[in-house]
Order: sequence, then structure tokens, then C-alpha cells
Amino acid sequence: TYPALAGRTAVVTGAASGMGAATARLLAASGARVALLARRTERLEQLAAEITAAGGQALAVTVDVTDRAAVDAAAERVHAAYGPADLVVANAGVMLPNPLTAGREDEWSRMVDTNLTGALRTVRAFTPDLLAAAAAGRSADLVTVSSIAAHVVFPDYAVYGATKAALTHLAASLRTELGPRDVRVTNIEPGLTDTELAAHIDNPELAEQLGGMFAAIPALTSEDVADLIGYTVSRRRELNLRQVVALPTRQA
Ligand code: NDP
Repeated sequence: TYPALAGRTAVVTGAASGMGAATARLLAASGARVALLARRTERLEQLAAEITAAGGQALAVTVDVTDRAAVDAAAERVHAAYGPADLVVANAGVMLPNPLTAGREDEWSRMVDTNLTGALRTVRAFTPDLLAAAAAGRSADLVTVSSIAAHVVFPDYAVYGATKAALTHLAASLRTELGPRDVRVTNIEPGLTDTELAAHIDNPELAEQLGGMFAAIPALTSEDVADLIGYTVSRRRELNLRQVVALPTRQA
């Protein structure tokens, strides 16, 4: 845990599973109040109950980040319960690989709308909070969860990679806007991590191929990524680890 995070007010999107859930657990165990945002209410409520039972503070907020009004409403719920946020983790994402020639516009739209525009909606809803916290002299953090796929080209992952490359670019750009106003922007770029992300792949060959990678390479855990996020946001506020690529040792 990171005791420096005690008293912070955090928002984690994609907190229903994987890295988001692990990050929420770590932040709460470190003494932050954590709003848990995702679509699966039952998962969020289970996690909130688990955090509360362990002595932490958590609030389950059902939201689909592809819905702008829903994201704004979620921000209002967070404000009502906890006041303004000072630590926002834009983590929600989906990965739906297929050959580009399959022409799966449904999947392209979902990935763009979740991974890129969803992150933008989250930023839009909570940036005023972060600026206010920073102006009041407190730590203020925006964390984006991109991917090594922002940098490395994989066949059949073109659109996913494009959303992550765009998110990485977005984080770098945002940093130039928010950094001078003392909001720290940190972009985390994990490699292969053992989560539910692959469960939504509907191409059996690609699902099997990814399964083979997990068999060949000891992957990162969600807790590894959560720990990195906890580490970066608990540095003194003048220090910004602006981009962290975290790979399994065996991943090329
Ligand atoms: P998971 O599938 O376990 O987590 C994704 C989370 O996003 C879930 O909590 C899901 O909850 C939420 N989510 C998905 N769509 C939406 C939506 N429309 N609105 C709100 N929440 C949504 O996978 P990971 O933990 O691996 O993924 C977290 C992030 O890490 C993603 O951005 C992913 O691209 C990135 N990443 C993952 C890597 C890996 O190898 N696993 C490697 C590099 C990056 P719900 O379904 O309830 O909405």
C-alpha cells in the first residue's frame, strides 16, 4: 500500500474486473476513498462491499463510458458522495481483434467509443475537479491506461492498437495542457496481463493464439499494474513518471 494516498478521492473506470478492480483495492487499502465505475453493477457492489468490509471506503457507480450523459451523471454521484475527485484512473477498455478485412465496424466503433472517446468523456467530466485540487495546493492525478499496443504492431489488432496509440498521444497532449497547472498526467502502458480482457474476443483462432501467448509467457498480474499506478501517483507532486511501459520479462 501507499500511505501517501490516504485521504485522496479517487475515481477508477473499468473497476469491475482486472486492473481497475486491483487498482481500486490498492487505493482503498492505502486510505483513499474510491468511486468504482463500470457497467456491471453486481461486480461493483461486490467489490465495494469487500473494500468496506476491509475498513476502506468505496462507492459503486454504474456507468457506460460510451454514454456521455451517463458519465456526467456518474461525476455528479461522486461529487454528492465524496466531493471533487483528485485522482482519476481512466482504465476502461475493450479489445476486439479481427482482421481489418473482416470489416467489423461494430467492433471498431465499440473500441473507439470505449478506449478513446470513453477516456475523453471521463477526462471531461473530472478535469475541473483535478484543476481545483491542484489550484488548492493538493496532489491531482490523471492516469490513463494505454498499452504496449500503442507502440508495437500486431496483425489483427489494428483498431485496438490505433485506439491505444491515440490514447497515448492524447495523454501526452493533455499533459502539456494540465502539467503547467499542476495536474500530473501519467500514462501506463502494460504488456500481457492476466485479466478478463481476452474473454470478449469472438474470433476463435485469435482467442487461441492469445491463449498460446499466455501459456508461453508468464504474464503480469492486475496487482502488478495496480502497484505501478499506486507508485506513480504517490510520488511528490513535482515528480511525474509520465509514461511507464511495463512488460512481462519474456515479452518481446
Ligand atoms: P478487463 O476486461 O478485466 O477490464 C476492463 C474493464 O473495463 C472492466 O471493468 C469493464 O467492466 C470495463 N468496461 C468495459 N467497457 C466499458 C464501458 N463501455 N463503460 C464502462 N466500463 C467499461 O481487462 P483489463 O483489466 O485487462 O483492462 C483494463 C485496461 O487495460 C483496458 O483499457 C485494456 O485495454 C488495458 N490493457 C490490458 C492489457 C492486458 O493484457 N490485459 C494490456 C495492456 C492494456 P464492465 O464490463 O462491467 O463495464
